[in-house]
Amino acid sequence: MTDVATDRARVRAPLPATMRAMALTAIGGPENLAAVELPRPWPEVDEVVIAVRTVAANRQDIFTMRGAANRTSALALPHVLGIDPAGVVAGLGTGVDGFAVGDRVVVKPSISCGTCDLCVAGEDEACPRLTNVGVHRQGGMAEYVAVPARNVFRIPDGVGFAEATAMSHSFPVALTMLRDRARLRPDDTVLVTSAAGAIGSAAVQLARLHGARVIAAAGGEERAAYVRGLGADVVIDYRAQPAFADEVLAAAPGGATLYVESAGDPAIWKEALRAKARRGRAIVCGSHGGPIVELDLTWLFRNRIAILGCSGSNLAAYRAVLELAAAGRLRANIHAVLPLDRAREAFEILLGRGNRGKIILEVPVGR
Ligand SMILES: [Zn+2]
Repeated sequence: MTDVATDRARVRAPLPATMRAMALTAIGGPENLAAVELPRPWPEVDEVVIAVRTVAANRQDIFTMRGAANRTSALALPHVLGIDPAGVVAGLGTGVDGFAVGDRVVVKPSISCGTCDLCVAGEDEACPRLTNVGVHRQGGMAEYVAVPARNVFRIPDGVGFAEATAMSHSFPVALTMLRDRARLRPDDTVLVTSAAGAIGSAAVQLARLHGARVIAAAGGEERAAYVRGLGADVVIDYRAQPAFADEVLAAAPGGATLYVESAGDPAIWKEALRAKARRGRAIVCGSHGGPIVELDLTWLFRNRIAILGCSGSNLAAYRAVLELAAAGRLRANIHAVLPLDRAREAFEILLGRGNRGKIILEVPVGR
């Protein structure tokens, strides 16, 4: 049977009562992931049940494993991780229209309320009632997952499940940050630090697509080579050049008009600010490298600098990324595709920073 025929047969047969999952059985690290049999989720009102084909191992899952991500309630164990599954629609709850069993779909990780002022204004990435697939509810590291239909998007023809999963988190976050929050312009000179990371590498591609000039900085020759392959105009290895502001200013004498920080590192922050243009913007969407940084307020107001924070992605950016993918204008960054039962190994690679692009886990079809 072809892949598509297998998928159709799988979702049209009566759905099993239970499913296999790689679930977190205790708070800690990847060693607490285990293969378990769980009840298959039912679609509640306005929900879609998806037969999962792919899901990525993300840094978000590592925060969840450590018990650090869900601030509203304790994690109910066993907990299924996985924020960005893609697969085939297998069941529809009451009130869902626009989807049919058999549709190829991908899940947007963050779930907004849809009714608050920010959601109504289209700034749903800032919704105060945000929850996340795989954090506040069961995720996609399983044969089936149930998610609100609002978070389900059809995968364009020509885009595979692994590619859809690989683009589901980082690209919409980077687009929300660049386009909607930082108001990216074609005449911007964008400095992207941690450019080999998931968000950084998406930001490099998206800024180039918007016509901006991109100076990408990453640590180490191998990461620098990877970033060069993404199309950055100038690439700096800040392991070789710790005082990299000089190199940015040599390439862009007026300084960078927009600085994209997705990891947080006090030394990198300091250099990046030294390379900023007057009236430049800095936008931050991550802090795992070190959240406390130095800031000279005199320099800030004299140079009219704006510092912005951003997190997550809005629905419009998500749709726009799928359209760009359908047009073949984005390249999914995939490091490896592993079977779901090797999830522990995927997280070990992620923790060791051994990946360039997403590590995708594939759910075996049919059993
Ligand atoms: Zn809201």
